[in-house]
Amino acid sequence: MNILIFGPNGSGKGTQGAIVQKKFNVPHIETGVIFRENISKGTDLGKKAKTFIDAGELVPDDITVPMILNRIKESDCAKGWLLDGFPRNLAQAEALWNALAAANINLDYVIEIVLDRETSKKRIMGRRLCATDNNHPNNIYIDAIKPAEKDGKFVCRVCGDEKLTTRADDQDEGAIDKRHGIYYDTTTGTLAAVNFFKERVKVLEVDGLPGVKEVSDSLSKMLS
Ligand code: AMP
Repeated sequence: MNILIFGPNGSGKGTQGAIVQKKFNVPHIETGVIFRENISKGTDLGKKAKTFIDAGELVPDDITVPMILNRIKESDCAKGWLLDGFPRNLAQAEALWNALAAANINLDYVIEIVLDRETSKKRIMGRRLCATDNNHPNNIYIDAIKPAEKDGKFVCRVCGDEKLTTRADDQDEGAIDKRHGIYYDTTTGTLAAVNFFKERVKVLEVDGLPGVKEVSDSLSKMLS
């Protein structure tokens, strides 16, 4: 099962992606996570990527495209993969499409979580990361996943961890606007990539506005 998931930063794409990953039991490959792991390990790739990430810009295609095309050739991807955060622009979409065609690999699902720019921005700024597990969803602006409170402080709503942090690039409005500028760009950006796939395969559009459960329910129906 080979799946792409699109959605602006803040649309709940990561959360929905984790649900899709569980359903199909394929590796959830998140470009942003790979970069952040490399940054924390201090690798060459991490050093190269950090400047772009901190500025809210895309890491250049000559670094990102081979990184992902090699990743999906690894043995854990033999039964498929879920790509999240890639492709992020038209050039990456074309590179992926051509690489898949050359290897005779089909795309089974392309999912687009649709959410307006204003709501996406608010959701990013409200995102909180749990130190125990980054996949524990916490967002101070979304009632359904609002962190719990203990002694007047927010704690993880899943495991109660008192260490909730923010990603530096989540609190920088300029960087968020840049990231959304890239996402909502229909000429060469991410929406151009989505449109590229819409011309070639069926893209499942999911409304990202309702709560996490409603979104995952409608997504599950489309995938079954
Ligand atoms: P994310 O965790 O998806 O918000 O990604 C964090 C950052 O990683 C982005 O703002 C980009 O700087 C970088 N990044 C993630 N995916 C890509 C990609 N497909 N191409 C280039 N840069 C990316």
